[in-house]
Amino acid sequence: MLDLTRLFENNRAWAERMTRDDPAFFLERSRAQTPHFLAIGCSDSRVPLELLSGAAPGEMFVHRNVANQVFPADLNVLSVLEYAVEVLRVRHVLVVGHYGCGGVQAAMDAGQGQGLGLVDNWLGDVRDVQRRHRDELRALPTVDDRFNRLVELNVLHQVVNLARTPVVQSAWARDATPLLHGAVFDVRDGLLRSLVTAVDGNDKADALIPLA
Ligand SMILES: [Zn+2]
Repeated sequence: MLDLTRLFENNRAWAERMTRDDPAFFLERSRAQTPHFLAIGCSDSRVPLELLSGAAPGEMFVHRNVANQVFPADLNVLSVLEYAVEVLRVRHVLVVGHYGCGGVQAAMDAGQGQGLGLVDNWLGDVRDVQRRHRDELRALPTVDDRFNRLVELNVLHQVVNLARTPVVQSAWARDATPLLHGAVFDVRDGLLRSLVTAVDGNDKADALIPLA
């Protein structure tokens, strides 16, 4: 188990290893960052976006929150998005959900007397996704199937939310970047599975969610 002392020891060992492999590694990165990716994922400790994708420092701009939400009114995610798209000029924006997501689970359980406090408010959009796809979800045979599908639907809706932000709309008016992607990580086997890729305009974004 990682404790605080070990955390700092690990950091020192990591920095020494990186410098041994490439003496200019930190010096080069201290000058600028030029990531090609913005990844928006869940805060869950089992979903370390850089680690699971092999991204080195400087290669991935990252935003994480509970259940990988992209709210149109969330200044935090919008500021990250604007900086990534307008200043860093990232070519790809990925929304990464994950099976077994506690946030999505909490949204599914809401209304069953299991209030969790503030996070209930945060998860309102996931509950909306659940309501919107009620028929599709109910048709699935098991609770696990419904849970997994809601995780996927949540990712697709967040990609659509991304597409509708003024930041992405004005970037697309300029050229067909950034490309938006949605993926889901499976904490049981460590694999990232693509749900949708290379959304580069409103037609593709609008086609992601069938009208319910
Ligand atoms: Zn999660």
